[in-house]
Amino acid sequence: MKDYSAYIRKNIRELTPYSSARSEYKGTEGIFLDANENPYDNGYNRYPDPLQIRLKGIISGIKGIPSENIFIGNGSDEAIDLCYRIFCEPRIDNAVAIAPSYGMYKVAAAVNDISFREVQLEEGFSLPVDGLLSAADGNTKLMLLCSPNNPTGNAFPKEKILYLVEHFDGMVVVDEAYIDFSSQQSLLDELESHPNLIILQTLSKAWGMAGLRLGLAYASKDLISVFSSVKYPYNINIAGMRAAFGLLGRDITKEVSELKHDREILAGRLGKISCVREVYPSDANFLLVKVDDPKGLYKVLSDKKMIVRDRSSIPGCEGCLRITVGTPEENDCLVDSVSAYCGDDVAEKPAVVSESVRMATVVRNTKETKITVAVDLEGNGVSSINTGLHFFDHMLDQIAHHSGISLRIAAEGDLQVDEHHTMEDVAITLGEALYKALGNKRGIERYGFALPMDDCRAMVLIDLGGRIDFEWDVPFTREMVGDVPTEMFRHFFKSLSEAMHCNLHIVAKGENNHHLAESVFKAFARALRQAVHKNKFSDEIPSSKGMLW
Ligand SMILES: *Cc1c(COP(=O)(O)O)cnc(C)c1O
Repeated sequence: MKDYSAYIRKNIRELTPYSSARSEYKGTEGIFLDANENPYDNGYNRYPDPLQIRLKGIISGIKGIPSENIFIGNGSDEAIDLCYRIFCEPRIDNAVAIAPSYGMYKVAAAVNDISFREVQLEEGFSLPVDGLLSAADGNTKLMLLCSPNNPTGNAFPKEKILYLVEHFDGMVVVDEAYIDFSSQQSLLDELESHPNLIILQTLSKAWGMAGLRLGLAYASKDLISVFSSVKYPYNINIAGMRAAFGLLGRDITKEVSELKHDREILAGRLGKISCVREVYPSDANFLLVKVDDPKGLYKVLSDKKMIVRDRSSIPGCEGCLRITVGTPEENDCLVDSVSAYCGDDVAEKPAVVSESVRMATVVRNTKETKITVAVDLEGNGVSSINTGLHFFDHMLDQIAHHSGISLRIAAEGDLQVDEHHTMEDVAITLGEALYKALGNKRGIERYGFALPMDDCRAMVLIDLGGRIDFEWDVPFTREMVGDVPTEMFRHFFKSLSEAMHCNLHIVAKGENNHHLAESVFKAFARALRQAVHKNKFSDEIPSSKGMLW
């Protein structure tokens, strides 16, 4: 086995890396006048740590790999690109890879002007060991493998991969993006004895951080320092690192084992559908599914806003769609839609929306009222409200408009008796929908607070912590505002606070009763807007007790 450094391009071997201001001084305390930063603290005014020492420390602890063997990139894409830039001389060197596989290998090769030699997987998507070795020549610097492979879903046996690492005269990149879902073990333990091995992993899949763009490469210490000197100095930003510190603290084993379980259930159910020809075994969080008419099915699914990946025009994947394992509810929707498309007999269930999207629909039918409320906490404040009470509709509109929560309310109540049942039941249904949409409450701001408003002063304090308490001090002087009795406003908010499981304290002053009611609804909307707001970078339960009801 040659020393891997022989494979590194000459210009990279001779590179004098950029020395950033922050990489020269290692301390964290001091008066920093070296990097031309703005000295006023806003959380982001300083450059990030170019070597991501703290983040690597956490990953090192999780993976059992020393920090010096870890590179962190802006997604795995950065690591893939760096492999070409470090090892392959444009227009001279080449890379070999399995096909079908992850599309970025080919794109990054093309960008770097490296010729890319694809070797088709063999029968049953097995690894073409001899084919890969014989496709390589004296200018082949990289061999790219992906296990579990995307899009075929299968993992290759460790011995076969190691055989290639030991017999290929160049660097072998093994992309383990889906390793957490696999029955095969990672090759991380093999790094020390195989200096020409580079392993890629990512926080995008099992760790659920695709939005943060954090890809990992593991290799020998010397090679990691080459990666560090070729990358952009500050390739990982402070916001991304902070978010990852929090998210890496959680235990993903339960979520991963549920996804693996759901994958098997989904595979079994899809396999029974008449126009599904094959569901390939998967070691990942997706299924490759061969169907009679992939384009037709793709279109029908996307018309229903169900997006899967059409891989049917890729050689080796003819007739196949790649389907990610979703929540159980999402998987149910998928199975029902595929069955319906294939003409199989299923009662189509209504789409159930998963908790993580912070939407909920609650239907409440009693002898007195029939009410449907749909809320979307990530909405844009659009509303469609019809309760039969005009002034009440106007007030509910204020909640949507000023909270930014999209709100659909349809109520048919016994208004011929009086307003009581309708207003009470709308409050209960709306409260339940908001409570349901809040889901596990992770990352929410939890509290709202008050703002003064015009001639009236309305103060609405809210705590979504889960305990119910209601206080009301709003002195209406008229019996009715529009078609709504003023006493019903108190009852509305009290019922709402109970159904939402929240503390709600409302105090208002003012002359004009219409304005008084309106200011209360607006202030409630503003308080709610702040309290339900989810910090995208926090997965924490907003309580020092670590739990909410
Ligand atoms: C999803 C995926 C990745 C991850 O890419 P990121 O850039 O880290 O999000 C890497 N490799 C394969 C094969 C993948 O499917």
